[in-house]
Amino acid sequence: MAGLGRSGRAAARLLSEKGFIVTGFDDDPSVEECGFCASHRLGGGDEPLAAVTSLEGLILSPGVPPSSPIPSAARAAGVPVIGEIELAWRNAMAPVLAVTGSNGKTTTAEWLGHVLRTAGLKAVVAGNVGYPFSSAVLDHPDPDWYVVEVSSYQLETTKDFRPAGAAVLNLTPDHLLRHGSMEKYRAAKARIFANQHSEDLAVINMDDPESVPLMGLSRGVECYFSIERQVPSGADAAGGAVCMVFDGTRTEVMKARDLSLPGAHNLANALAVACLASRAGVPPEALAAGLSSFGGVPHRIEKVRTLRGVDWINDSKSTNQDSLRVALLSFDRPIVLIAGGLSKKTAYEDLRSLISGRVKQIVLIGSASAELEEAWRGAAPCLHAGTMEEAVRICRETAVEGDIVLLSPACASFDQYRDFEERGRHFRSLVEAMEP
Ligand code: ADP
Repeated sequence: MAGLGRSGRAAARLLSEKGFIVTGFDDDPSVEECGFCASHRLGGGDEPLAAVTSLEGLILSPGVPPSSPIPSAARAAGVPVIGEIELAWRNAMAPVLAVTGSNGKTTTAEWLGHVLRTAGLKAVVAGNVGYPFSSAVLDHPDPDWYVVEVSSYQLETTKDFRPAGAAVLNLTPDHLLRHGSMEKYRAAKARIFANQHSEDLAVINMDDPESVPLMGLSRGVECYFSIERQVPSGADAAGGAVCMVFDGTRTEVMKARDLSLPGAHNLANALAVACLASRAGVPPEALAAGLSSFGGVPHRIEKVRTLRGVDWINDSKSTNQDSLRVALLSFDRPIVLIAGGLSKKTAYEDLRSLISGRVKQIVLIGSASAELEEAWRGAAPCLHAGTMEEAVRICRETAVEGDIVLLSPACASFDQYRDFEERGRHFRSLVEAMEP
């Protein structure tokens, strides 16, 4: 087992429960040893590289790049190398509905799980949502469906993974640093369709030009979703009503305004949910009930508090330019924006006109502050807060009744926090502690 983080430990547990003797590998010599591993080879150097050659197989956790020394040494020695998702899938006794994409994966996967449960089905949501698929197959061995969120990193190391329904939500230039190019990134996402059979469902976003080249790659039945126009098959919402279209028949499911999550991006997510739910046979009434009653996922445009007429919104999961874009589009009130963190080095200046129309004050935190100030110069007044404490203090002074204070950083959190959840919790605790 290479990589002893959360997914790696879960995979080690699965392997040991299936009777394998597990050796744990991790570059970090100080990583906590894993109770499911019989032995460990920690740190760099030649010793782990030699040890890997005598294994029966090597499982990679998503944090370990397939081209790094340990998996390379394994492959060179003829040792099969697969990822944690593939391992879990081989041990899963129920069919899988899978979700990937650049943005919206967790929201869509959790929303789909909620819709399936609303329809009376036993559904377990796992994968990149923070609950490893390997844990799910052990903890919940007999659901009706697994809903699995898969990242492009996880898809790089699948082999036979075959979801009965699979959606690619969108493809925007985020993780390009590791994938090298848009083509490679798209190819990694397309692996979600690679092993599908004729009875499987492939769901594609018709509004996203980057997703169009995905058409025709699955051997399964293709369907589409669009918030802008009518689709030949799948789900759309062009006229303000969520409609399902199958076998040439169009059925209105509900009004788009009755969805429980705001914003056009969540309308798109809901349509992807509708397509995947159709694979599980969810009837229109249950679909409408589930789409209108989902409570959302923490740290994604989550309202923390209303104080003196100001809504404080935690969107800490906004770690790239596109998620900031959709957050800005989700509100029609003046926004005081907290952004910044570790830069994703994308074309942040593309957001300038959106910011100038909607943001009354920018408050910057973290190491990307100078870069963002430069990118958004002139779009809105800009203050450097540095820390979250200072940012919240400034927002408190700046926002007036009717405004939104939005934490939507458009950046990674690792310069100041362990992860986006820690950043969101910090923001929440500061906001909750404010005196009325
Ligand atoms: P992921 O799991 O792909 O990171 P999340 O559901 O956790 O996606 O949402 C991440 C961020 O992206 C949040 O800030 C959220 O508001 C935003 N977002 C959600 N759905 C979409 C979408 N369809 N397109 C663009 N951004 C989205």
